Amino acid sequence: MNRRKFLGVTASGLGLLTLSSFSAFAARDSNTAPVQFAIPTNTGINGHIVVLGGGMAGATVAKYLRLWGGTGLQVTLVEKSAAYTSNILSNTVLTGQRTLANLAYHYDTLKNHYGVTLINKEVAAIDAASIQFADGTVLSGHDRLVVAPGVEFDLMPGMTSVDEYDTLIPHAWKAGPQTTLLRDQLINMTDGADVVITIPKAPYRCPPGPYERACVIADWLKANKPNSQVIVLDTNADILVEKDNFNYAFTVTHAGVIDYRPGCTITDVDSATRVVTYNQGLSLDNTVEAGVLNPIPPQRAPKLLADAGLLNSPDGRFAAVDVLSYESTAIPGIHILGDASSTTMPKAGHIGNQQAKTCVDAILRMLQGQLPDPSPVTNSACFTPITASTATWLAAVYQYDPGTKKMVIPAQHNNGTAISAPTASTRNYQDMLTWFNSLMGDTFA
Ligand SMILES: Cc1cc2nc3c(=O)[nH]c(=O)nc-3n(C[C@H](O)[C@H](O)[C@H](O)COP(=O)(O)OP(=O)(O)OC[C@H]3O[C@@H](n4cnc5c(N)ncnc54)[C@H](O)[C@@H]3O)c2cc1C
Repeated sequence: MNRRKFLGVTASGLGLLTLSSFSAFAARDSNTAPVQFAIPTNTGINGHIVVLGGGMAGATVAKYLRLWGGTGLQVTLVEKSAAYTSNILSNTVLTGQRTLANLAYHYDTLKNHYGVTLINKEVAAIDAASIQFADGTVLSGHDRLVVAPGVEFDLMPGMTSVDEYDTLIPHAWKAGPQTTLLRDQLINMTDGADVVITIPKAPYRCPPGPYERACVIADWLKANKPNSQVIVLDTNADILVEKDNFNYAFTVTHAGVIDYRPGCTITDVDSATRVVTYNQGLSLDNTVEAGVLNPIPPQRAPKLLADAGLLNSPDGRFAAVDVLSYESTAIPGIHILGDASSTTMPKAGHIGNQQAKTCVDAILRMLQGQLPDPSPVTNSACFTPITASTATWLAAVYQYDPGTKKMVIPAQHNNGTAISAPTASTRNYQDMLTWFNSLMGDTFA
């Protein structure tokens, strides 16, 4: 795939975004084997790029650096896990519709077809010139470093250790063992007890995700624990995205099963008793006892970025970047993207995949002594299961605004706002599966 052609497609798609256009970026659909493109040999581009983190953003960067950069470009991907488990659709593991195993993606194609060198190690520290691994070894000598390690999770008020998430009150906001624990807790919960979900203040990973989780758990409770409810304590003043769709889901589709409480301030979480204390407006020190407690904590870029001096967003929790290249505004030569970066775009896997392509294009230009493309375009899509067979979606196109130096939804795109599905439907659910397979194929295959 030619990168200029790709960027041309994104620009010409502006304002014409349809569901079917999403898969145009992925070059395949769910019914066909992933297309593996040939690596060009004569680009004249040489260098060595190291990528930290083989998730949605990092794996895409590694693949497309080779696909667009060619065989003269050495790409090393550093990833601590042997395989990647998709967060996307992991809420359906909670309801038994999927397993973690069928959300696992491996690095074989990146290694064997795209020629990416994989180092399966945990990184302990980074600086402009080197990477220090947890085992004490060091990697250096590369031209640029791309960092896409996702997020870390704060403790909720009253908690003393992150281990409480692993053993007692799983957040399951990174798919893995906590997802299994949460699923088991739901199965073992007494009928009539309540599931309590807390939602952190934005920005957090996947804006519709917590509302989606409330919906799919409510749907499952109706069949499996008909006397139980989902209580949602949202620290935001209102539903953040797809307000009409979630409002309908909470008050009609799952009426009486979801109790949505906005504008809450969580003041204490007792992981042993599963009691949450919170204020809501003038009503102070309210308590709710959960049968299953699922606190979704506030999130931040991982500590190794803080230690490196990269967390220079206004709130100090994420890395500020130049969205023409995703180069850090604090330390030249380090590019940060995906959930760890601070941008105007949602923290989402689809956006991480899109940011990756802008970043790759910029790095390839920089290696040739050129400036990044001055007008990148990205798109975002989030599908949301509402029941076991229906879903909604939210989509937007973002374009670079030279005035603010930010990615903005242009005025000609739905008056500068995201577009959401008019209603939940089974057709959307099928489209969701096609979109998911296309996105994951484009990232890992
Ligand atoms: C329940 C849920 C539903 C979601 N649904 C959607 C959706 O419908 N659509 C959507 O677009 N997004 C969705 N998301 C969000 C999406 O999963 C994230 O935005 C996306 O994964 C972020 O990509 P990333 O590359 O920044 O981080 P990640 O995908 O988390 O990847 C980070 C990688 O870095 C590795 N890593 C971290 N630290 C180190 C280290 N020190 N050394 C070595 N390796 C390291 C990790 O092992 C991991 O593989 C959802 C998220 C959740 C929780």
